[in-house]
Amino acid sequence: MKILFCSSEVVPFAKTGGLADVAGTLPPELAKLGVEIKVVLPKYKCIDTEKFKLEKLDAETSVAKLSDSVDVYFIESQKYFARDGLYQDKGEDYPDNLERFTYYCTQTLKLLKKIDFKPDLIHCNDWQTALIPVYLKTIYKKDPFYKDIKTVFTIHNLGYQGLFTEEEFPQTGLDESVFSVDGLEFYGKTNLLKGGLLFSDKITTVSQTYAQEIQTKEFGCGLEGILQNRKTDLLGILNGINYEEWNPKTNKHLNTHYNDENLDGKYAIKAELQKNKNLPIEKDVPLLGMITRLADQKGLDIFAEVIDRICQLPLQFILLGTGDPKYHEIFAQVQKKYKNTSINLTFDAALAYKIYAASDMFVMPSYYEPCGLGQLISFSFGTIPLVRKTGGLADTVVDYNLKTGDGNGFVFSGYKSKDLLQTIERALGVYKDSAVWKNLVVKSMQEDFSWGQSAKKYFKLYEEVTKQKVVV
Ligand code: ADP
Repeated sequence: MKILFCSSEVVPFAKTGGLADVAGTLPPELAKLGVEIKVVLPKYKCIDTEKFKLEKLDAETSVAKLSDSVDVYFIESQKYFARDGLYQDKGEDYPDNLERFTYYCTQTLKLLKKIDFKPDLIHCNDWQTALIPVYLKTIYKKDPFYKDIKTVFTIHNLGYQGLFTEEEFPQTGLDESVFSVDGLEFYGKTNLLKGGLLFSDKITTVSQTYAQEIQTKEFGCGLEGILQNRKTDLLGILNGINYEEWNPKTNKHLNTHYNDENLDGKYAIKAELQKNKNLPIEKDVPLLGMITRLADQKGLDIFAEVIDRICQLPLQFILLGTGDPKYHEIFAQVQKKYKNTSINLTFDAALAYKIYAASDMFVMPSYYEPCGLGQLISFSFGTIPLVRKTGGLADTVVDYNLKTGDGNGFVFSGYKSKDLLQTIERALGVYKDSAVWKNLVVKSMQEDFSWGQSAKKYFKLYEEVTKQKVVV
């Protein structure tokens, strides 16, 4: 079975969030199952040509390896992709994003002919790739090369839809009839994600709970009606994580390593981070970590409401995040006010590993969370997640029960700052009993959220959509 996997970001080449982790990890797992799979993304300025050994195919494309068996193609354009950011600059979306990702989608389809790769199915991810299923069912409907290609569209976050003005619609190259209620028109605007949802053969999202939530008014972002109509084609498949990368036994960014039988290395990393970040070096004071895009979605409004109360608790707080300027300001104040905090308002992959390893607890008070990777990564590093019960967080974190010892984290339901604060206090209570806490840490490190199971589910879906059985 031949699959083309399209994503606007792919680890290790370019990343702003979880989508990149998925796109860099799932294709090699699918290849292990016997799928012939190729990946396509734009060639952004940040992608290091030499380090990743990119080879020129022609003026518009280059190619490299994602893994031994997976080739990755880069759509090049001086005009569209030779910029510092992927989608924006200083918090402002690039004004020509529609033109940029139209170019990416059209060039991706053209590339297939160029390299003579006719996939059975194209797996598209998020709005940046959403024009591909639309083109296949409109412009390319009768083209013998393209007409039988099936599509799966994965929603990684319904909150980002690729919304543009009506005036910009012609830039898609689509017939004006596609700008309709049954097409890309959305309250007078051009909505690319809507196109992906309407024109693809199957839709998936990244957890079962989120698949249900997006069919409701509260979380459907205006697209709940379409998702309800397509509910028999909609499936939730949980993301996994790559344990070669997110592993305290081997991670090359850590100076000390550890495992579930010996946690000494974890405390050494904690002491090193405390030293480097000018935090008091105290093993027994719990370190609360947070690594996140600074966006409302991530629950930062309720977090900010009680940030003073949190910082006055017997804990240390370390934040790594970037995004909305209003949160940059709030956290900059926190840094000035509290000596037990370390505020890092930047994107820093190397620091992220250290924080996951050094922290005792990891907080994710998200308003909504399609899957969430932070809690899965935290488990692997023996760092206990404190989460709100939503989306993938609800599907992976089970509230700790002091009496039975069941559970792997701390969970609250209501989207309220007082519930968040109480949950942190509850976790601090459990932390006081070092034997109980250690048990919890060891148990969390034994959780398995590897890609194997999820890759098999995608594989089954591909078989179902293409009506093919792969014999390996
Ligand atoms: P989302 O994709 O919505 O941002 P996820 O939890 O799915 O959230 O994935 C976020 C990923 O990005 C995780 O791997 C997390 O560690 C990483 N990340 C987020 N912010 C930063 C940052 N400022 N620096 C380094 N890594 C970050």
